[in-house]
Amino acid sequence: MTASRRSGIWALHTPDRSAKASPADVRRINRSLIFSLLFPDHQYSRAEIGRRTGLSRVAVSDVVNDMLDCGLLRENGQESNSGKGKRGTLLSVDTTRLNIISIDMSQPHLIQGAVTNLLGIPTYRAEAALNAVDHVTIEMITSIIEQLLNHAGDAIGIGIAAPGVVDEEGVVRRSTLFGWEDLDLRSPIEQHFGIRVTVDNDATCAMLTERFFGQGGPNMLFVRISRGIGGAVLIDDVPVIGEYHAGGEIGHISLDPQGPPCACGKRGCLERLISATSLRARMQHASLLERTQILRQAGTYLATALSMPVGLLDMADVCVYGQPDIVNDDFLTAAQRRFDQLTGSSFHTRTIIRRCQCGGDITLRGEALSVLHNYLESL
Ligand SMILES: [Zn+2]
Repeated sequence: MTASRRSGIWALHTPDRSAKASPADVRRINRSLIFSLLFPDHQYSRAEIGRRTGLSRVAVSDVVNDMLDCGLLRENGQESNSGKGKRGTLLSVDTTRLNIISIDMSQPHLIQGAVTNLLGIPTYRAEAALNAVDHVTIEMITSIIEQLLNHAGDAIGIGIAAPGVVDEEGVVRRSTLFGWEDLDLRSPIEQHFGIRVTVDNDATCAMLTERFFGQGGPNMLFVRISRGIGGAVLIDDVPVIGEYHAGGEIGHISLDPQGPPCACGKRGCLERLISATSLRARMQHASLLERTQILRQAGTYLATALSMPVGLLDMADVCVYGQPDIVNDDFLTAAQRRFDQLTGSSFHTRTIIRRCQCGGDITLRGEALSVLHNYLESL
């Protein structure tokens, strides 16, 4: 484990890494502080930024001028007069000048890409259909990025959200879905385009969107139910990466060692029991009543699996992202009931399990946020 490991995602509060920070570190931390204050849609004067961050006037001006120069911030006219002192110029994030290239590999049968603005909102899209076995090559990803770059102005980076365990070097250590092991996604694409490339786990990206643009607070368990089961954990606004980059990976924890065999070699893994693919296969020829029972059982499995981390970490918010044929009232009510049975106590706030309301661009947007974060760190 290296001391300088880069999480690749937006740690909202930059941890205090060292007592002897260099001037460059101080600038980076101040920049992150000021940008976080303004992002996504706040506007303050320099004086107000100073009050809210505790930074000196000189420090604020210094960092703000830098961010104005590179197109991250813009000036929006004068603040309304509060009666005392002169009116300051309002600053906000400039969402129009810089672009991000974001690639989402979490969709079944499809690689989806977009040029986004700094809020992760797509302004141009491109996609490629995959064949039946979801075979993906680096050339396919490169070709989508090429199309997108033709429609992007100043791109500050390229981001790729991939299912599986992704390390800080942009290597996908393992993706059961694509059958990848130790696949370096970052270097070849970075070399090809000469633009910084960021690679992240898809569930972590989706969680970032839920935090910035959805209902999520600074502490949540996030679960994504699709072809596989992805998970991500946010504690005090810092995503949990884990010792081997597999933080949040709950899909291959076995709930039933005598259960059906799983692609990972074990039996009865959560992913084998409640992935959308497994559940849809079971529900295909089932009656309405049987389908309800299958989904209730799935909700119960999920809550059973999550009850330990929920209790251990004192989590009150579990957010589940998935299609409404799976993550519906039957599923959520059964999961809530099981949570109440397993985790209810006088000292633990009732854990609420809820459906994520963010739309289909949740992963694209989250990956764009990650690229933005890395860009800010690299300036
Ligand atoms: Zn498994």
